[in-house]
Amino acid sequence: MSSRFDIIHKDTAGRIGRLTTPHGVVETPTVMPVINPNIQTIKPSEMRDFGAQILITNSYIIYRKDELREKALKDGLHSLLDFDGPIMTDSGSFQLSVYGEVEVTNEQIIDFQQKIGSDIGVPLDIPTPPDVSFERASEELDITIERLQAARKLVTGDMLLAGPVQGSSYMQLREKCARTLSETGFDVYPFGAVVPLMESYRYADLVDVIAASKKGLDPTAPVHLFGAGHPMMFSLAVALGCDLFDSAAYALYAKDRRYITSRGTYHVDDLKYLPCSCPICLKHSPEELKKAYNSTELLARHNLYVTFEEIRIIKQAIWEGNLLELVEQRCRSHPRMLEALKQMYTHSEWLEKLDPASKSTFFYCGPESAKRPEVLRFANQLERFTIRGSALIRPAPIKLDSGYDNVLIFKPPFGAYPQELGEIYPLNAEVPRTPDQESLERAYINTIKLAELNPEAEFTYLLVERFRHPMVDKLESLTNVQVIVGHNP
Ligand SMILES: [Zn+2]
Repeated sequence: MSSRFDIIHKDTAGRIGRLTTPHGVVETPTVMPVINPNIQTIKPSEMRDFGAQILITNSYIIYRKDELREKALKDGLHSLLDFDGPIMTDSGSFQLSVYGEVEVTNEQIIDFQQKIGSDIGVPLDIPTPPDVSFERASEELDITIERLQAARKLVTGDMLLAGPVQGSSYMQLREKCARTLSETGFDVYPFGAVVPLMESYRYADLVDVIAASKKGLDPTAPVHLFGAGHPMMFSLAVALGCDLFDSAAYALYAKDRRYITSRGTYHVDDLKYLPCSCPICLKHSPEELKKAYNSTELLARHNLYVTFEEIRIIKQAIWEGNLLELVEQRCRSHPRMLEALKQMYTHSEWLEKLDPASKSTFFYCGPESAKRPEVLRFANQLERFTIRGSALIRPAPIKLDSGYDNVLIFKPPFGAYPQELGEIYPLNAEVPRTPDQESLERAYINTIKLAELNPEAEFTYLLVERFRHPMVDKLESLTNVQVIVGHNP
């Protein structure tokens, strides 16, 4: 349990939270722009203008360069970067993963981060990449856990300490690591070494890594998805319970002349129009943006604007209770994201436990919506309906109710429910008039279960053309169900 993180609003596993650091409170979800102490495309002092509340930089880069190290030790990290808000520092683990070694120990870098006044420090963990052997992942994880536990004892001041969750692509290792770190107690939990998954569009695998790591943690602990900076996948990660992101992407993409949007990335030379209303895009034509002497800086600024715009869209969606509708829209921008959406709903049982019981109206956005946690919860609660005597199951508009003891409404993807519940969440859902096959299948599975749970009741199902599905035969085969065919509407 982290006493420095308060959750103020929830939707699915996503939340709006407040993380208290020595240099102020950060409202999450948010993105930390990555500041390279050597090259600053945009000055840290300007970052608040884009919506940044917290920055992240690399303490190892500062430690290695005499001039930077001395200034940081003398005047502090915040003076070095000229930013008076919270700053998180990485430890050199990234360099360790790229170069195989670093010239600093875990103890030295933790000590250094404390001395320069970092708000959130990171131990020198080992970011084991995906797909290595289980033996290697397991051995490196043991070293990581040992170093993190040592770091926990070394932090004595008010610096928050991050406990990175590693374990490569082995879900049991991720979950075990998260559980062990949770017992030790850290202030923020970064999920590490996920960049290779994102770079190769393995978003479905990323979903499993996040879910496994989250399942091992206290659900109230703040989570940082380390290295995730593309706004396209923020909503998905937030819905799975990630609170912090970091973006080096705004600057790196700009250097490659790439223009970020929440639907994907364009090469600036392919842009005939600028699909954005940020100050940069309003003031420049596509040609000006391509040819400007400071084109990299302009692109970096645009990239930052859209990154924070997406964060505000996500926060509003959590506030309103329609985060999953946003996720389902965003995941349609790339086939591999659509795969990730389907993968997320394989974890609906877990998500259902975290999802608030009542939210804004459920909008059915596509076949994946039939697997949403709310639909699963309805199926799990069918035992609560006790039905005796005769029962008519009908589509909402056909009113032929006289002569029945009970009237149930049939509404895909839920199935049949007592009509008096029709205005209650989630049964007041907005659904297509003509459902897709996935929605019908789920509705019939639930209706069959309801009939089986109430063997004494006699059900009459009024079937209309648009609700025809192979599962109707199975429903009709039950001894207490009779199917009659209705016309319109
Ligand atoms: Zn723009």
